[in-house]
Amino acid sequence: QAKNDGRSTYRFYQEQMNIDAVEQHQMLSGLAKALERQEFVLQFQPQIDLSSRMVIGAEALIRWQHPERGLIAPESFIALAEDSGHIVPIGEWVLLEACKQAAAWRKAGFPKLVIAVNLSAVQFKRGNLEMSVTRALTESGLDPDDLELELTESILIQNTEQVLATVRKLKTIGVRLSIDDFGTGYSSLAYLSRFSVDKLKIDRSFVQNMVDDAGSAAIVRAIIQMAKSLNLKTIAEGVEDENTLARLRLYHCDAVQGYYYGRPMTATEFSTYLSENQVALSSNSAIWRDSR
Ligand code: C2E
Ligand code: MG
Ligand code: MG
Ligand code: MG
Repeated sequence: QAKNDGRSTYRFYQEQMNIDAVEQHQMLSGLAKALERQEFVLQFQPQIDLSSRMVIGAEALIRWQHPERGLIAPESFIALAEDSGHIVPIGEWVLLEACKQAAAWRKAGFPKLVIAVNLSAVQFKRGNLEMSVTRALTESGLDPDDLELELTESILIQNTEQVLATVRKLKTIGVRLSIDDFGTGYSSLAYLSRFSVDKLKIDRSFVQNMVDDAGSAAIVRAIIQMAKSLNLKTIAEGVEDENTLARLRLYHCDAVQGYYYGRPMTATEFSTYLSENQVALSSNSAIWRDSR
């Protein structure tokens, strides 16, 4: 219920971030001006298909290039942006920017890439998401099939008619839907089919422990099996090493994302990454794999 009470939410935020009220006030007023001052940037992290070893997509991840504090990670300002409502215009900017970038890569002749964009629950409640998505697609000229929206279980768990109606409209537009950080929320099999989700992103907490911890491995395996029987794709996040990758192959996970294949990088760096890796990947995947 703290979410409905601005004061206590902000206090919680302060404690979590270990900042005082003055600092928070500064963050908040900075956040309000950050969009027009063009202080937000997107980074892109590659997603690799495990059977073809191709780069099949990228997740767009926001950063705030703060004039005094330097590059701020999303974990340090998304909550504040959500509580203050700034996440709605910020989220619209992310959608448009990500779509524009994906369209540019497409135009530059790179193979098909699906761009994944994170959505906040607040965008479902307060924003006109359907309109923002349509506008981003129209303005960028991106094919709806090249856009994937990452939802969290917390969005679907609300299961309200409003959320359901919005998700249906988004599916009608033709975008893909995935569930982020899967396995950490209140998972219900019912909503997976109800919302016609396409993909599950297995949370990195399970992925990162799966080599050493049998319980985590069992969870990852079970998620993949369940996804297969429901006709959903799976992607594991937070893949940092070869052993984890081997285990995910064994379990027939479809795709991976993580430091092992690439950290989040600027759009320019990602273009270079694509031209260096995509050719090697498609012509001889072994070369690419062994060179790491
Ligand atoms: P997420 O959507 O689960 O994104 C994955 C996070 O895991 C990213 O952190 C990424 O840098 C990190 N990561 C990827 N591979 C690895 C790995 O191999 N090892 C480890 N240790 N970490 C890895 P990041 O970029 O700091 O983003 C954090 C969260 O902020 C995201 O988690 C997402 O929930 C949120 N976020 C980012 N961009 C946006 C946005 O545009 N809108 C909204 N609403 N939330 C966003
Ligand atoms: Mg995500
Ligand atoms: Mg995630
Ligand atoms: Mg996460």
